[in-house]
Amino acid sequence: MILDAGHGGEDSGAKSPSTGLFEKNLTVEMVKLIRDELAGSVKVILTRDHDMTYDLDKRVEFVNGHEDAVLVSIHFNSTGSSAIAGPEVYYWRVDSYTLGKRIEQSLSAAVPYHSGNRGLVRRRLRLTRNPWLPSVLVECGYLSNASEAASIAKPEYQRTLAKAIAKGILAQRAEGDGNLGPLPPPINAPLSRPTDPRE
Ligand SMILES: [Zn+2]
Repeated sequence: MILDAGHGGEDSGAKSPSTGLFEKNLTVEMVKLIRDELAGSVKVILTRDHDMTYDLDKRVEFVNGHEDAVLVSIHFNSTGSSAIAGPEVYYWRVDSYTLGKRIEQSLSAAVPYHSGNRGLVRRRLRLTRNPWLPSVLVECGYLSNASEAASIAKPEYQRTLAKAIAKGILAQRAEGDGNLGPLPPPINAPLSRPTDPRE
C-alpha cells in the first residue's frame, strides 16, 4: 500500500495557532508511525519521508504507477471555528468506501470525537477522485482546536492514531467489502482539478 504524507516543502498545510506545529511535518511523523504498525503485515511505500514540495497531480501519477495497492493520504484539519474537533475520513470511489469506513470506525473507537466531526465523508478531491486505486484521505484531527492540537503534539497520541489507522487498514485486508452493508452508488464526475473550490 501507499502512505502519503500530505503537503510538504513550500506547502506547509495547516498550522496550529496554539502549538505552532505545521501539518506538513506532522503528516511525515504519522506515515512513519503507521508504517511501523503495519511492518511485517503489509508492504508500505511512502510518497515522501522528508520535507519536500510534492505536487498533488504528481502524487496521483506516482500512485497510478502501482497495481494492487491502496492509497491512504494523511492530513490534519483546520477550520475557522475553534470548537470543531475530531478525525474525519474522505473517500470518493465506491471501491474506497469500506476502507474509509473501517479506518473511520477504528479512529472513532480510539479517539471518540467531539461535536462538529463528520466521520466518513464522500468528497471529490484530487487524491480521492483521481487515482485508479482505492484511495482515502484521513484528516487525523483539527489543528485549529486547541485541545485537540495539544493532543496531536504528543507522541503517544500520534501513536494511538497510527495504531487505529493501521487497524482499519488490516481489517479491510482481512474482510474486504463485507460486513458493512450496501456500498454507495457510483457517481460519475470529472477528475478533480486544482481550480476546484476545495482541496
Ligand atoms: Zn491537508
